[in-house]
Amino acid sequence: MKLEKFSMGIGDRFSHQGKAQLAAIKKAKKAGCDIVPVWNKSHREHTIIGTEPAAVREEADDAVKALGWKDSYYVDADHINLSNVDLFIDSSDFFTLDVADYIGEKCDDKDLKAFIEQNKKYVGEVKVPEIYEKLTITQQDIEKIGAKFLLAVKKAGEIYRHIAEKKGSDNFVTEVSMDESNEPQSPVEMLFILSAIAAEKIPAQTIAPKFTGRFNKGVDYVGDLKQFEREFNEDIAVINFAVKEFGLPDTLKLSVHSGSDKFSIYEPMKKALKYFDAGLHLKTAGTTWLEEIIGLALAEGSGLNIAKEVYSQALEHFDELCAPYATVIDINKDNLPTPQEVAGWHGDKFANTLRHDQSCTEYNPDFRQLIHVGYKIAAKMGPQYINALEKYEETIAQTVTENIYDRHIARLFLD
Ligand SMILES: [Zn+2]
Repeated sequence: MKLEKFSMGIGDRFSHQGKAQLAAIKKAKKAGCDIVPVWNKSHREHTIIGTEPAAVREEADDAVKALGWKDSYYVDADHINLSNVDLFIDSSDFFTLDVADYIGEKCDDKDLKAFIEQNKKYVGEVKVPEIYEKLTITQQDIEKIGAKFLLAVKKAGEIYRHIAEKKGSDNFVTEVSMDESNEPQSPVEMLFILSAIAAEKIPAQTIAPKFTGRFNKGVDYVGDLKQFEREFNEDIAVINFAVKEFGLPDTLKLSVHSGSDKFSIYEPMKKALKYFDAGLHLKTAGTTWLEEIIGLALAEGSGLNIAKEVYSQALEHFDELCAPYATVIDINKDNLPTPQEVAGWHGDKFANTLRHDQSCTEYNPDFRQLIHVGYKIAAKMGPQYINALEKYEETIAQTVTENIYDRHIARLFLD
């Protein structure tokens, strides 16, 4: 199964926006840009919301049928590991193997020796075409990288083989993800991680490193743009080199997690993709949930009441909701309005405060991040929330499609 050049992870917490999401991708195709949709949902999200992986498959199939989508589409078991992969085997054909927890963990001495042996020919200067500077590699670099990453890659191998045994190796796409770790991976580390992935015979088609800077949920990138641009370009150069050098799939490309709303890096990313004629997988998980709340607010009436309720309860459960996302949110509590203030807002005011439009003076990124982690509140509302999604489907669908197309696809993929 070969993944197309451009693909978008369109996570959808409550499985109601599949058609609205696909409509954006269809619109891109009409504008001359081929992107394939990948409906992704992690075990963590399923657990918090109380859904089953089969529901994502059903949502994807239904959307594809309803919109007459003829191209490929995928269902991604996002951030899975050996302990939960079995739940996803039947419904998924894309697996994101999350091995970030094993980074820095000690691996078998024999394995490490073999890794150093395999890679010692790269000691000295490695000529990677199109890279800013030649890579100079020492024996210690290789030892250090092996000690830090080899166990993670071995674990990815275990998960991959487990899936391949059950599904058949040609029937799914494999991603290896290391993005949920504390330190970014350098292009040199990326080179030897890919060497280990090839040695482990994992036919990875996407790799998700942790990039430099902060990828806070639902808001813009925070970090050194120049450094990001340099690393992003170098990562692509290293991938192209590794594909030839180690015999990895020629479809191998970068996967950018928490890729939604990072508008300030879209310009350098777009430039790099053009320059290298490279592919990309962009995961945009939480952004659709925020559009649901915007749509509900704009619908006024009971829709707006639910949006306000989500906010006031999220504020009440601030610590509990924020804790699991500590490394990917930065909320300044002083900038959050009181529930009493919000109670007096019209739908427009609520939507303008939440919508990711940096040119709007009412936009409040602290408010946005809190709502981002507040989906648990909506999940607890149960049928009340789901019924509202259905009642106000039209308004919500519009905001969902517009967000993915205008703010994401148009900025990153269209001329
Ligand atoms: Zn991720």
